[in-house]
Formats: sequence, C-alpha cells, structure tokens
Amino acid sequence: MSQMKLHDQSDRSTQKSIPIDWSYAEAPENTSHATFLKSYGLFINGSFTNYDESQSFNSINPANGEVLYRCTEASEIDVDIAVKAARASFEGEWGNFSGTQRSHYLYRIARMLQERAREFAVLESMDGGKPIRESRDIDIPLAAAYFFYYAGWADKLPYAFPGKSSKPLGVCAQIIPWNFPLLMLAWKIAPALACGNTVVLKPAETTSLTALKFCELLQDIGLPNGVVNIVTGAGKTGEYLVQHPDIDKIAFTGSTGVGKLIQQSIAKRQISATFELGGKGAFILFDDAALNEAVEGIINAIFFNQGHVCCAGSRLLVQEGVAEKVIDLLKNRMQHLIIGDPLDKNTDIGAVNSKTQLETIQRYVATGIKEGASCYECSGSLPNSGYYFPPTLLTGVSQSSTVVQEEIFGPILTIQTFRTTDEAIEKANNTPYGLANGIWTDKGSKIFYVGSKLKSGVVWSNTYNKFDPTSPFGGYKESGKGREGGISGLHAYVKLVNNGGMN
Ligand code: NAP
Ligand code: MG
Repeated sequence: MSQMKLHDQSDRSTQKSIPIDWSYAEAPENTSHATFLKSYGLFINGSFTNYDESQSFNSINPANGEVLYRCTEASEIDVDIAVKAARASFEGEWGNFSGTQRSHYLYRIARMLQERAREFAVLESMDGGKPIRESRDIDIPLAAAYFFYYAGWADKLPYAFPGKSSKPLGVCAQIIPWNFPLLMLAWKIAPALACGNTVVLKPAETTSLTALKFCELLQDIGLPNGVVNIVTGAGKTGEYLVQHPDIDKIAFTGSTGVGKLIQQSIAKRQISATFELGGKGAFILFDDAALNEAVEGIINAIFFNQGHVCCAGSRLLVQEGVAEKVIDLLKNRMQHLIIGDPLDKNTDIGAVNSKTQLETIQRYVATGIKEGASCYECSGSLPNSGYYFPPTLLTGVSQSSTVVQEEIFGPILTIQTFRTTDEAIEKANNTPYGLANGIWTDKGSKIFYVGSKLKSGVVWSNTYNKFDPTSPFGGYKESGKGREGGISGLHAYVKLVNNGGMN
C-alpha cells in the first residue's frame, strides 16, 4: 500500500482521492479510492469537532505495527455534548419523522455503503488486520444488508408488533468491539434508527476508522444533525457514555468482563440494556459426516477473522472413531493456509488486531501447554513486522482446561473426543458461555435432537459462521442478554404498549 497517503484534516476540502493498487484486492477495475485523514475529531451533531493533539491517541495498522491515524479521546464533556445533540435531534426533527422518512435515510445509507464497499473494505483491513477477502466479501456487504433489512422495517413497525403500538426509547448509547467494526456498527445503528431513536456510538479504540468514514457517508446522504454521533476513545469514554444520566438505552457488544462491569454499574438505574458478550462455541463432528467438507467447516469456524469471532467454533468435539483421521486432514489443510498481508487477496489469515491481543493469545497457548496440552502450529514463516500468530491446534486437553473453558479470541482450536451423542452435548454445554455451536452430521434426526439440547443462541448445522440480517443473534448464560438481528432486534429499541389492535 505504498501509494496510500495520509491527509491532514485542514487539507480535507482540497484533498484528492489517491488511487489504490488493486492488484492486492480483486476488483474489476484496476483502481479504486480509499482515503483517510491523518487525524480525526469526534463526530457530533453532524460535523467533526476540531482535532486536538493534546486529547488524542494512535491507531495502529496491525499488519506492520505502524501508526495509521490519530483519533480524539472523547472526554466526559464531549460525551455530554454528543448526548445533548442526540437528545435535541430525538426531540426535534428526527423524532417527528415518519417511518417512511426514516426508511429513506436508511436505504440511502445502505446504497452508499454498497457503492463505496471497496473503499470501506480496504480501510477495515488496514485498521483491523482482517484479510481483504473477508472485509470485501463478508463485513461490508453484510453491513449494507443490515441497513437494507432495517430500512424495510422502519415504515412497517406495526406489523412487527401486532396488537401493540411501539415507541422509540430515545437516546441510545452503543458500544462496539474491534473484531467486526463496521458490521457491529450496522447491527447497532440500523435497528435503532429504524425504530426512531438517536444514537451516540463508541467504536473500539483500535478500530475507529470505518466508523469515522461512515460519518462522512452520513454527511453525504444528508442525515439530519445529531441522529448519529460517534465518540472515539478508550474504555473511559465508554464509561462516560454508559454513566450519562440522559441516555435511555445501552447496547453493548464486547467481553463478558466489561459487560458485567456495566451491568453492575447500572444496577440501580431503570434503563433498557442489551449485551452481546463472549463465547466458546463447540463444533460437534459426528463420525457419519462427510469428513473433507467438515474439515473445511472447521477451518472456517475457527480461523475466520484470525479467530477474533465471538461465536467462533473454538472447541472441536470429534467422535472417537474418526478423530485421528480428522486431525490428520486438519493438519494437512492447515499447511495450505496463507498467513500474511491482510491486503493481499490470497491471504487466509491476516494480522492479530493488536499487540495486546497477540500477547493474550500467546499467554493462553503457554497456559494450555503448561496444563498438559500438545500444540500443533502451522509451519511456515510469519511476516517480520506486525502482529501475527499461526493457526494452532491444542490436543490432550480436558473439559476443565483453561483453554477449553475461557475465550481466547485467536486462531486456536482445542480438540476433544466423545463417544456418545449425550457426551458431546454435555461437553458442548459445559462452559460458562452459550453463544453459538455447530453440528456436523449426515443425519437430520441427530441435528434436531442435538440442536434442541444445546444451550446457545445460535446452532449451525453442516455449516458455521453464517450471518443473515433476518436471523436473530445473541447468547445465553455469560454470552449476553437480548437479541440483535431479525424482528427480535427491533424489540431492543422500542417500548411496547398494548392497544388491542394495530397502531
Ligand atoms: P471489550 O474489551 O469488552 O471492549 C468492548 C468495547 O467496550 C470497546 O469499545 C471498549 O473500548 C469498551 N469498553 C472497555 N471498557 C469499558 C467500560 N468500563 N465501560 C464501557 N465501555 C468499555 O471487548 P473487545 O476486546 O473490544 O472485543 C472482544 C470481545 O467482544 C470478545 O469477548 C467477543 O466475544 C465479544 N464480542 C461479542 C459479540 C456478540 O455478538 N456476542 C460480537 C463481537 C464481539 P476500548 O476498545 O477502547 O477498550
Ligand atoms: Mg487499528
């Protein structure tokens, strides 16, 4: 990406788009445009605040460890200004719009995301380290799809809640993680706006770029001021936001630890809150399955997005009779994975999102080995700079092993065997989490039986990591509270009143 130039914010009005070398990413034309600023202010009430160096932090490109741009760390006062802007918009222009008017804006956002998909894909991969193939084919198209889907609901809400009338909640405080930055933003903003709310959103500190770029898109489509406000910053900014006395809703996606802290801190407040938290999904492979296909499924379940996936199939439970064969197939397949430059279209495994996350992964693997696991890593060299970790298998683990119980959030698969169906179910359910699981078998009856016994919000069968805006997503136990996606996702953003009929 040597052509990529950074621009000063002062230069923005005159800035020219710099062509990207699309030999990295597959595109019909050989040029596209992906520009970004060297420094960003906050997006409040429809415009960017002035960037102040004394209140800023670096965002790193994890593929090479270099600074990509600088962001503003929103203070308590900044968060207050953002909440006030969202309140004014909710009580003013936006709050008076009809569902049809809201849907027009959401459709415009969706279409613009599609139009500018390549630009967003490049920025997402540079900022977060994910392979361009994934941001291009999954993250950005899906983000647009969520806006399309909820645009469709905005003028049809009475049909979503038969016999009840719905009212928006008001100002929504939304906090998102770094693993799917633009997609998590879409999961939050699209249903909130469809239902008539306004938003203050905080992206994760390591991946703010596409959220900030999204603000430029909002300016381009003419979204009224104050409907969406983006405050960048670290955990402290998130705390200011959830503690603000004038918010009506908290929507948090992130770790179970921070989710618990937020729940404790709001325990005495009457405030609607939804939580999408961690996971430790099992991939249950029966001996009647098509094993080569299943191995492809496992690769996708755990190595997609470097394993930075809340619903990753990070525990393989394989039926004893085929375990040896499956492990051989898996090891062989892993040797063909290409690890490296996230912007190369051939890359399967990109960079780990941050140095901190790399250290977490290294620590977990060391703990696994210390507790008796055998470790198999992809051979082959890793890039010399940046944050990378090879796809890894941990065998010889037990149900109580730390690496089986705790979320690692990296390309690490633990492998256990089982004899009977009930043993597989028991092992799959035996962690504090309950977000997602997968079943791989040739028998439909087994899918229904096992599926009905798994305590998780999502159960995939003969596939894994498939997402769709029409489908609800969320967890049980320590994986969260509430659902996003589908009609269920609307419930998180409305108050319902019985009216005995349509409103
Ligand atoms: P995290 O550390 O919990 O952070 C999530 C967000 O909360 C970030 O924006 C973070 O800011 C902010 N934050 C940190 N401390 C806070 C506090 N005290 N009050 C308010 N906000 C605070 O999680 P992460 O490491 O970014 O993301 C990985 C986790 O997200 C994993 O556990 C994964 O399973 C989970 N996740 C769940 C889902 C789901 O749908 N269930 C989807 C995606 C990810 P900073 O970034 O600046 O720290
Ligand atoms: Mg970054």
